[in-house]
Amino acid sequence: MKRIYFIGECMLELKAKDESTMAQSFAGDVYNSAVYLKRAFPQILSGMVTVIGQNTISHRMSQRFLQEQLNTDFVFEHETKSPGVYLIETDAQGERTFTFWRNDSAARQLMQFFDDGMVNQLSTADMVFFSGVALAVIVPESRELFWQRITQLKQAGVTVVFDPNFRASLWPDKKLAKQQFEQAILLADWVLPGVEDFTALYGIESAQQVMDFCTTRGAQEVVVKNGPASVLTYSNGTKTEHSITPVTKVVDTTSAGDAFNGGYLGARLSGLTLEQAVKIGAVAAGTVIQYPGAIIPKAIFDQAMAS
Ligand code: ADP
Repeated sequence: MKRIYFIGECMLELKAKDESTMAQSFAGDVYNSAVYLKRAFPQILSGMVTVIGQNTISHRMSQRFLQEQLNTDFVFEHETKSPGVYLIETDAQGERTFTFWRNDSAARQLMQFFDDGMVNQLSTADMVFFSGVALAVIVPESRELFWQRITQLKQAGVTVVFDPNFRASLWPDKKLAKQQFEQAILLADWVLPGVEDFTALYGIESAQQVMDFCTTRGAQEVVVKNGPASVLTYSNGTKTEHSITPVTKVVDTTSAGDAFNGGYLGARLSGLTLEQAVKIGAVAAGTVIQYPGAIIPKAIFDQAMAS
């Protein structure tokens, strides 16, 4: 069985239903990808590497991981901390705003649990995935250890995959984000960036330039996502442009890139070609953006993937 582990944070998502009720859900970039990968490719082990707490909401979160058939061998429980929370609000014009409470979330303490024994267990996996969100969230004093662990996994032959997913509000300044991203891109075997991340950080606006940024730093496989525009890939020295069928009824683009990553990585782990994997990633993302929320109902997703 192929095994991929997603390193990062999952949060409680709250959204007002009416004046006195909040709808609750769970989301977070790596969690979203883990879920969509598992739904599209049930035969692959898709695991979360994160920290929750010991309170009721933490237990409900781990129950949700299990409902989504995710592996929880590396979901740790912090004694005193609990998961981050975010609130989605929509104004009269339909614009959404997000408010986060994650400064002291359990997931920030991941490196307390990431010991040598865990490195040994993860060393037999096929892939580990982390994003710029995980890099920002892990407490700064454990970043060095994070890099050490990822390097050990890479040396053990695990394919390391990185998606920058730049979130300005999570970084004290752009300089640190750039330095960390460049370290990640140098280390990662595969990079799955969105053009927007590079526009915000480097002023780079073309998919081609994003691709060059990653390949000149040694990435072996690169997939540049650019909303409804073509996806650009690089593998074995070959660059290819793949056109996307634009979705006309876009409802909520939250987790488009995450769904793409889940579909793409699941397909690649299943031995499918780059072309097939881009198609599957694009169908996954194109479906998710037609419904509200990061995680759409399983039945709707499954039906779209089957067609
Ligand atoms: P992110 O969520 O990282 O900002 P993008 O906006 O670049 O991601 O989109 C990721 C993927 O989602 C794209 O590569 C594409 O497959 C799909 N996608 C995004 N917007 C559209 C759209 N309007 N129509 C069809 N597919 C889309």
